[in-house]
Amino acid sequence: MPQSFVSPVTLSVVTPMYNEREAVDHFVGRLRPVLDGLGVTYEVVAVDDGSRDATVSRLLQLRADWSALRVVALRRNVGHQAALAAGLQSARGEFVVSIDADLQDPPEVIGEMLAAAHEQRVDVVYGVRGDRSTDTVFKRRTAGIYYWTMRRLAGPWVSDQAGDFRLMSRAVVDVLNALPEQNPIYRLVVPSLGFASAEVSYVRAERVAGETKYPLSKMIKLTLDSLTSFSAAPLRIATWLGILSFLVCLGLIVSGLTAWAMGAVVPGWTSLYIAVLLLGGIQLICLGLLGEYIGRIYAATQNRPRFLVAFDTDKDAAAVDPAE
Ligand code: UDP
Ligand code: MG
Repeated sequence: MPQSFVSPVTLSVVTPMYNEREAVDHFVGRLRPVLDGLGVTYEVVAVDDGSRDATVSRLLQLRADWSALRVVALRRNVGHQAALAAGLQSARGEFVVSIDADLQDPPEVIGEMLAAAHEQRVDVVYGVRGDRSTDTVFKRRTAGIYYWTMRRLAGPWVSDQAGDFRLMSRAVVDVLNALPEQNPIYRLVVPSLGFASAEVSYVRAERVAGETKYPLSKMIKLTLDSLTSFSAAPLRIATWLGILSFLVCLGLIVSGLTAWAMGAVVPGWTSLYIAVLLLGGIQLICLGLLGEYIGRIYAATQNRPRFLVAFDTDKDAAAVDPAE
């Protein structure tokens, strides 16, 4: 728990939104009474992740009637985790809750999270989804493989039940904001920090409106970022693959030489064909793997901003005009 931090806002609720025009009214309509009922000062940081629909203009309209709703608009779509980073940078609260905009994470749980943080004196409270039956079979399967792999590569603290619905104290958020990493995957980084934590379980609901903003391509990006940001183990696996294929080749060389010495010259087309394809495949995979790491080193040395804020309604008064 932060002792010395004095903040005018007790709670910041950070929500990345990408093309959520259809969900935003439902979200605000359900979130507001929950937050009003908590009896603490709060702000809602809605981060627009470069939406192409009317998400921003609708947020600005809603803000006219709810001054605690703050709109931070990014210049382009940078993805869920980077949008979350923008929200964490902007949030001023003594506690920060990150929550999805599609009401899959029930806002009512925020009260339990805050209570748990106070009562158990912890810095992180994870929203733990006991049941994912509302997600598609494909989503559950791919998520299962993702968390299984990450637990082995990153560490046993990775929970397959905890996504990005969580409460963090100011101390944790300050650490996250100071990370020099280009692509921190918060659901992996936060538990790795070792802050005292508690859990609150909830049932993951169905998306209230619109469709998932996580197509397969974004899931693959998240997976590659997760793999490379937490472990060099894939590189070691590449080395082992290389050693293994080298040993197999040694065996093949010996048997080839023996056959030659005995005068039994075999046609050998099939074995050559398979060996060339197999080795070529393994080499390309290992090269690609190296490329993934080098690409990230390259991005890190360029050190470009991960997102640019177009406007923040609490800082740029001109943006507040919903008539635009
Ligand atoms: N999101 C975002 N940028 C993106 C993709 C998603 O800010 O490029 C937001 C989205 O608006 C939502 C949250 O991230 O608030 C989770 O996305 P979604 O619900 O589509 O993912 P799913 O629940 O299907 O995994
Ligand atoms: Mg969702």
